[in-house]
Amino acid sequence: MSQQEDVFKKIVSHCKEYGFVFPSSEIYDGLGAVYDYGQLGVELKNNIKSYWWQGMVLLHENIVGLDSAIFMHPTIWKASGHVDAFNDPLIDNRDSKKRYRADVLIEEQLAKYDEKIEKEVAKARKRFGDSFDEEKYRATSANVLEHVAKRDALHERYKAAMNANDLDELKQIILDEGIVCPISGTRNWTDVRQFNLMFSTEMGSTADGNMKVYLRPETAQGIFVNYLNVQKTGRMKIPFGIAQIGKAFRNEIVARQFIFRMREFEQMEMQFFVRPGSELEWFAKWKETRMQWHQALGFGAQNYRFHDHDKLAHYANAATDIEFLMPFGFKEVEGIHSRTNFDLSQHEKYSGKSIKYFDPELNESYTPYVIETSIGVDRMFLSVMCASYKEEVLEGGETRVVLSLPPALAPVKLAILPLVKKDGLPEKAHEIYKELRFHFNCQYDEKDSIGKRYRRQDAIGTPYCITVDHETLNDNCVTLRNRDTMQQERIAIADLDKTIADKVNLSSLLKKLK
Ligand code: ATP
Repeated sequence: MSQQEDVFKKIVSHCKEYGFVFPSSEIYDGLGAVYDYGQLGVELKNNIKSYWWQGMVLLHENIVGLDSAIFMHPTIWKASGHVDAFNDPLIDNRDSKKRYRADVLIEEQLAKYDEKIEKEVAKARKRFGDSFDEEKYRATSANVLEHVAKRDALHERYKAAMNANDLDELKQIILDEGIVCPISGTRNWTDVRQFNLMFSTEMGSTADGNMKVYLRPETAQGIFVNYLNVQKTGRMKIPFGIAQIGKAFRNEIVARQFIFRMREFEQMEMQFFVRPGSELEWFAKWKETRMQWHQALGFGAQNYRFHDHDKLAHYANAATDIEFLMPFGFKEVEGIHSRTNFDLSQHEKYSGKSIKYFDPELNESYTPYVIETSIGVDRMFLSVMCASYKEEVLEGGETRVVLSLPPALAPVKLAILPLVKKDGLPEKAHEIYKELRFHFNCQYDEKDSIGKRYRRQDAIGTPYCITVDHETLNDNCVTLRNRDTMQQERIAIADLDKTIADKVNLSSLLKKLK
């Protein structure tokens, strides 16, 4: 097992051990790619959602919220193209009986070429030391150029096959590249087939009158079909946005990466309605705004990158992903799409109702264009966990596991710990707890030694602990311990609220967004 796979395994078991994420229906051996959030997971998830919601709705005067139903009229999914085209190309390995996405297999192969190139460059950097001219090396090294040529050729072939929906060619690429099943190690592949990802169920109680309805595979359509309601009742002027957080469902073919790819997940989507012709300018603006939202968390700019789409969805004229460096490589966390006026026009066509906007400045009516920002709460949760999980070797050789969560996202902001379980210290600690819980999420803990209690709080990412000791009864001061530096300082109980609130409340994070 590679070191990174090992780290990922540890993160998954940490999530379970401390009540962040549990497999769904675990006592019945689980349900494929469905997960439940435990007592700490739900707090972290809610904080991520608040950070997004407030970053959108609170900080933009032209963005408002919405909460539309999961069930919608089935014609919506016909109009949006999902019934006919929300497919993934699947391929089975006959020996392992495992199913894969053909496009993912090829993308992983592309990533392998990239890895080879980076390895060559790293080797040369080591060999040449300070005199290394990386740009020149990349442009002239025979090995690097050979890998680049192979990768580019594969990329072109893959792009063409995806855009033409050529399933035979996708299979041929897999065969020509010698891609093997990671489980069986063989190339005994079936043909590639299309697979629709939408779940359906029935609505109504009579046997013959039932209507087939879908569980929404994205929250966006709920926004589009409410566009006119919100625009009219909110007297919104273009450009403006509608934001929504909600569950989405996809019958994913491959679901083996914990909460990265789930069958029931949650999305935070914002559709921004703009004048036709101005969409690419807004697309560029939203790319920048969204990247800034991610980077304000302080996980390091080098862990993010944009990845432009090779195959544009049927509705888009520009699309990019924000990828985050997970232990299993750079992976999509958010998509930003210029969706043109496709969705609104389709709904006009299928519903027979006009969804035009009258622009008083231009004195004309048009169907607005749309920029979408779409981020998965669960993938965001996973990236926060991966970036925060650390095993540190301390001075005495002891190790500690610490979740260095951004304080504004931490499930518990402050742990209140009486040094011993007697002499009136628990009572004093409870008194402090009862006062501070109105300001932020606090946890009272009196079990085990103080050292063990600190470790427990480190492991769940609590940014601050206070210890109530015998002195506290005389001087009304406590010891405040910082999770990251482990430094301790004496502080008056009366100053706790102000000192801590400034650092842990969401506003501290929101203020970093310009
Ligand atoms: P992928 O290529 O990984 O399947 P996608 O491009 O289909 O993702 P979008 O349709 O752009 O994803 O959805 C927007 C966001 O929703 C993604 O960036 C991701 O964060 C989240 N998301 C999509 N599918 C899933 C899933 N199965 N499980 C968890 N989150 C998901």
